[in-house]
Amino acid sequence: MTPPARPAPRTVHLSVDPALHRDLVTATVDLTAGGEPLRLSITIPAGRVTAEDLLPVLQELSSLFSRRGEAAVARAGKAISCCAGCGACCRQMVPVAGAEARQLARLVAAMPEPRRSAVRARFAAALATLDAAGLLARIEDAGTITAADQGMAYFRLGIPCPFLEDEACSIHPDRPLGCREYLVTSPPAKCADTDARAIDRVPVAWQVSHSLIATPAGEGWMPLVLALRWAGRAGPAKKQLGPELLAAIFAAASPA
Ligand code: SF4
Ligand code: SF4
Repeated sequence: MTPPARPAPRTVHLSVDPALHRDLVTATVDLTAGGEPLRLSITIPAGRVTAEDLLPVLQELSSLFSRRGEAAVARAGKAISCCAGCGACCRQMVPVAGAEARQLARLVAAMPEPRRSAVRARFAAALATLDAAGLLARIEDAGTITAADQGMAYFRLGIPCPFLEDEACSIHPDRPLGCREYLVTSPPAKCADTDARAIDRVPVAWQVSHSLIATPAGEGWMPLVLALRWAGRAGPAKKQLGPELLAAIFAAASPA
């Protein structure tokens, strides 16, 4: 999948109910996405939260903008090629934010046995393949390889996502933001082609995944297969007020 890039410019205005003594607040967000005005009403915790705590809201937003992208291509007479049982894209490098890595590690830890051990073994196998190819150290040593080269080298190794089972996503409701935002109209066979130019991606007006990564609370990014290892080594995540954090994520989608 596309490595994190600068989020697309848009205009964002966010106003929040200031009654912070309550547990939840509802933020009204006015933005322009894909050239169209859009008003969103988003209920979030009023108190101090981590970016991981906001992930359910961000996942909803990510899916919302992906559905809008789907609707736009349908209006243009094109059909989405993606369907269950089609998993070539799940062998690409999937960038996830640190906050998502924490969520995925928690998800795996909560799995019943023997599934938990099976999934952890797939993560370990993926890291072993990266290591054998000399790519693991380069990925972890930031600056020794560009994100684009990293993505291409990773894809050539053909590493299946540890959550891919029978060519379908086994954690579909909890899948990362980047997975939600990756849809194509080109033939599925082209997704297995390492020449990314052959793929027609559905334009998504706001890639929430990129904004989370661009926000300090998102804690950077890494390939999905490093998520468990990273989360196991990371200290506690920083907290900030829910409305402040949401505003920061929206601000990351604004022009500089
Ligand atoms: S992106 Fe490509 S491989 Fe993935 S589900 Fe869609 S058509 Fe299939
Ligand atoms: S999390 Fe699911 S959708 Fe995303 S790459 Fe893995 S198997 Fe595919």
